[in-house]
Amino acid sequence: MLEKIIDEKNIEAVRTLLEKSEKCVILTHSRPDGDAMGSSLALAGFLKARGKDVSVVVPNEFPPFLAWLSGIDNVTIYEKTPASADEILKAADLFFCLDFNALSRIDAAGNVVAELSTKRVLIDHHLAPEPTFDISISHPEACSTSELVFRLFWQMGAADEVTKEMAECIYAGIMTDTGNFAYASGRKDIYFIVAELISKGIDKDLIYRRVFYNYSFGRMRLIGYMMYKKLQYFPKRNAALLTLTYEEAQNFNCNKGDTEGLVNMPLQIKGVRFTCFFREETPGKINVSLRSVDDFPCNKVAEMFFNGGGHKNASGGEVRGPMGKAVKIFKQVLEEYSDELTK
Ligand code: 5GP
Ligand code: MN
Repeated sequence: MLEKIIDEKNIEAVRTLLEKSEKCVILTHSRPDGDAMGSSLALAGFLKARGKDVSVVVPNEFPPFLAWLSGIDNVTIYEKTPASADEILKAADLFFCLDFNALSRIDAAGNVVAELSTKRVLIDHHLAPEPTFDISISHPEACSTSELVFRLFWQMGAADEVTKEMAECIYAGIMTDTGNFAYASGRKDIYFIVAELISKGIDKDLIYRRVFYNYSFGRMRLIGYMMYKKLQYFPKRNAALLTLTYEEAQNFNCNKGDTEGLVNMPLQIKGVRFTCFFREETPGKINVSLRSVDDFPCNKVAEMFFNGGGHKNASGGEVRGPMGKAVKIFKQVLEEYSDELTK
């Protein structure tokens, strides 16, 4: 049986809001990942089956290895069609905010949402949500937002309404946010949920292949290059750094999503507890990914040094300027946290 971790008051409040709402808009974070898309599309499928008019709005493009998720063809990408996305937001009578904790995480859509008095329901597993949400289903102990979406259905007594397609979305979210059950995945409830999803008819091994065996040739060559030429190892600090400039990414013909998971790889080196990946998205705009094991707080580093945030073991942010500036900041981090990293 599944322990009821979501406050029953919140379940009731969602139920009441749903009774009063026709046009539901589901929002998820910038550069949406498997959990962002999986949780959003599962909820979208659920609400549609209940007769709601549902739109999923994402700030920018999702990676191609998620293109098979049911309902993804109808997702509105804000960056591509801002005017029609704004119309969808303005017409909504209920917002579901999935897999983010602050309106700034949905980029320009956040400014529009902030202006509207439409009720906002948060479903998320990041630390410290903003107080901007009317209902806050916030559980940092959950492995993923997809786990929480399943729990919401379950606690609403609506697990029967979960179809195979919704189950696939939820499984994809749990699988990607736990690195195929390698981290944040030690609680037994997750496996109860997985068993329920399998009983809906999902093929978990097929989902694994769709997501993780679906990269380009360029990505394989890029990984080789990155590990051979670009990996910096700091054995005294149990840390590692990867950098990729805009020009290098162009040379490898990198697709969107081709750098997914690279930041985790140096954690395979014995002793490494903290890794950082700087990826120059456009000249002068560097995307920062941080990963750690055990107690090392990536989220604090992201907040203090990279104008970002996230989870304790997986965070992100950005640097404006050349790669040299980002590398300097990383070295400052190693100095500042030398005690935590060397112990
Ligand atoms: P990734 O390295 O995969 O881009 O991000 C890792 C985690 O950090 C994700 O859970 C993501 O939501 C969070 N994250 C990434 N970038 C930012 C950011 O700029 N601000 C905040 N608050 N969180 C971020
Ligand atoms: Mn997530």
